[in-house]
Amino acid sequence: MDIDKLINEAQDQVKDQFDLIDKMCEMNSEKVLKAFWKNKISETHFSSTTGYGYSDIGRDTIEKVFSDIFNSEDSLVRSQFISGSHALTVALFALLRPGDVMLSISGLPYDTLHEVIGIKDNNSSLKSYGIGYKQIDLINNDFDYKKIKETLEEEKIKLIEIQRSKGYSTRKSLTIDKLERVIKEIRKINKDVIIMVDNCYCEFVEDRNPIDVGADIIVGSLIKNLGGGIAPNGAYISGKHDLIELCAQRLTLPGEGREVGPTLGINKSILQGLFFAPFVVASSLKTAILTSKVFDNLGYKVEPKYDDIRADIVQNIEFGDEKKLIKFCQGIQMGSPIDSFAIPEPWDMPGYSDKVIMAAGTFTQGSSIELSCDAPIREPYIAYMQGGLTYEYGKLALRCAIINLQKQGE
Ligand SMILES: *Cc1c(COP(=O)(O)O)cnc(C)c1O
Repeated sequence: MDIDKLINEAQDQVKDQFDLIDKMCEMNSEKVLKAFWKNKISETHFSSTTGYGYSDIGRDTIEKVFSDIFNSEDSLVRSQFISGSHALTVALFALLRPGDVMLSISGLPYDTLHEVIGIKDNNSSLKSYGIGYKQIDLINNDFDYKKIKETLEEEKIKLIEIQRSKGYSTRKSLTIDKLERVIKEIRKINKDVIIMVDNCYCEFVEDRNPIDVGADIIVGSLIKNLGGGIAPNGAYISGKHDLIELCAQRLTLPGEGREVGPTLGINKSILQGLFFAPFVVASSLKTAILTSKVFDNLGYKVEPKYDDIRADIVQNIEFGDEKKLIKFCQGIQMGSPIDSFAIPEPWDMPGYSDKVIMAAGTFTQGSSIELSCDAPIREPYIAYMQGGLTYEYGKLALRCAIINLQKQGE
């Protein structure tokens, strides 16, 4: 097999998709630039605080920039959030009280939330505080409208959680159009239920975000899309002011809330990462689309297909074979800039039920806006690939992965 021919032919076949992505990148870049203009970003905002972090003008302005980009009332953008899962946890504990019930309408939530909610036992779960959980699975990759209506009419639900990206499942990720439709239906029945969206991996993939279509609060990670590969850690929560205020009180402490939180020198990185984010997301999407087309041409099952409308940056490739899956992930690692010589193996990761293999030769530990590929070791052996700081590096890593897979006897 001539690998370069295979990849370049696929690249020629996806030109139209790449053009659409370039347009999206332009629109989202304009959104970012306008927010920088409006908030008069200057070198002052690169300054840093230590200790309590009172009066951090950079931090407070970054939060305004995020709100402008999302079209939301308020935002919390903090390095004190360890990751996206932590920000989701803070939001859930901030918004729910004993006796309340939360409802997931996108099926089983992301693996790391199982112990948070109490789907899997943990003495500090929401369940341990007497907070209930209900779940409605998707049907045919869309919301189960009938069940949602019934549940909202029959029960008192405090908060609805919607996870857009598929996580380690085989369902499709949820586009803004689907979100818009379900939120309209929910609002016909219940005006007050808090609609919270796990927006991980979805930022800047489309030209609208969940707030634009009526979500109350959204959550995402800064070592994914919006960090642009430059933010060293952190996460954001954005949405209605009163809800963000509750999250701030819970993140730090009641009484101090958002007034504290030292930035320790990362303000410039967060701003610069955000500046790059539309382009980096576009590069990730191009890498995903090329991979999808290459493996489609090779006869593998892929999700999404190269010409599907995408909601996130994740690309699934179904290998149907444990060895092939592992070889592919190891090949992605070989094509990475950092730790290219390390060979990832499946291991028991905290927060996950199956063994997971993670290829991530990244500048920032665990960053998945940088090209990375992970997979739970279970049938049908699907690789979840995402990220790519530039398309060219993504393409080179894909080449390494295919060469490594071929050694396996492909
Ligand atoms: C990545 C991700 C999260 C958060 O993961 P962290 O690694 O904790 O940042 C949550 N939900 C979904 C759907 C994700 O993809």
